[in-house]
Amino acid sequence: PPDVVPQAPEDPLFGLMRAYKADPSPNKVDLGIGAYRDDNGKPWVLSVVRKADEILRNDPEANHEYLPIAGLASLTGKAAELLLGPSAPAISEKRVASVQTISGTGAVHLGALFLAKFYKIDGVHRTVYLSNPTWANHHQIFTNVGLPIATYPYFDKETKGLDFEGMKRALADAPAGSIILLHACAHNPTGVDPSPEQWREIAALMKEKKHFPFFDTAYQGFASGDLDRDAGSIRLFVEQGVELVIAQSFAKNFGLYGERAGCFHFVAAPSSDAAEITSRVASQLAILQRSEISNPPIYGARIASIVLNDQALFAEWQENLRTMSGRIIAMRQALRSKLEELGTPGKWNHITDQIGMFSFTGLTEAQVLKLRSDFHIYMTKNGRISMAGLNTRNVEYVAKAIDKVVRE
Ligand code: PMP
Repeated sequence: PPDVVPQAPEDPLFGLMRAYKADPSPNKVDLGIGAYRDDNGKPWVLSVVRKADEILRNDPEANHEYLPIAGLASLTGKAAELLLGPSAPAISEKRVASVQTISGTGAVHLGALFLAKFYKIDGVHRTVYLSNPTWANHHQIFTNVGLPIATYPYFDKETKGLDFEGMKRALADAPAGSIILLHACAHNPTGVDPSPEQWREIAALMKEKKHFPFFDTAYQGFASGDLDRDAGSIRLFVEQGVELVIAQSFAKNFGLYGERAGCFHFVAAPSSDAAEITSRVASQLAILQRSEISNPPIYGARIASIVLNDQALFAEWQENLRTMSGRIIAMRQALRSKLEELGTPGKWNHITDQIGMFSFTGLTEAQVLKLRSDFHIYMTKNGRISMAGLNTRNVEYVAKAIDKVVRE
């Protein structure tokens, strides 16, 4: 029937991108993009990715066969090590089940699907608690698999930092065994992360309440430039000996956005039957994967695998990560100091306090729209800016424009 499918709204982020592309102004600035740009405002192919690509193209053995259902084993094993540390007991005790997915989105989806099928307490689904705000797609992914969702306080509008008390209260009030979605580092959209001490408190509180941690990690190494440091939150939980899952994306840290490389990991709590539980989980993940995508895409997985399995390339990757995270940190400092020089009303310390690709500026929707109409500067309506869209040539223009709209 013609009237049963209503028109859905356009994805706001992709709509923003379209509006930016259509704008003929030479001054336009795209602060909506969720992808890294170099100082010339151009996409950056990591030098290490170019090298891996070269190796792959010259490999006479390479072909276009299917991968196994769980993906490229030389990638998934190293991917788990990257998150948990190469000598993690969880790995040696065979308590980790890893499946290659369609980037981070596919990993979140596979995890959601798995929990919808198997995570019930007394026959009832537990609610998934998402930070307020969170990456908008989380809402749709969990809702689409039929899991109930709720939010926990996260961003404090006053301090533009973490509402830690609000978050803890919500975790304490949530029914035991609730699924709690956590951004491992570089929270999207706020750029606000708990401190290591706060993570410890969160982990202890969640363990006490028997909540189920669902980590989403899309920015490992991209946030601080240090892969181990950016995995600190996850390692802390794993060391607590709790069962958890992790959705891992290689889009940002390898610059492999369109290649859709990522992994989903299940980590069992230590016990005498942990390895057996893990093997059962892996068997079920394989069935879900088979019915959804059969097997994951091969090209990006091979690139990431070549880098992760070669010491020299791995070192070069770390250098590339420092280049990207370093430029972003420099842009945070530049924007903050320009706003402070201009004496723009308000405090701007949050720009350098927040980390990762995004910053929640605190600009109102009206100010955001004015920046778009009067200055051709594009950002999401919630005032989130992508630091990657700033460069040495446009940061002053952006600061002056923000200064003007804030004073109005
Ligand atoms: N989770 C978060 C929090 C993200 O910001 C992103 C990327 N925007 C993803 C997951 C997944 O991205 P992708 O599917 O491109 O790996």
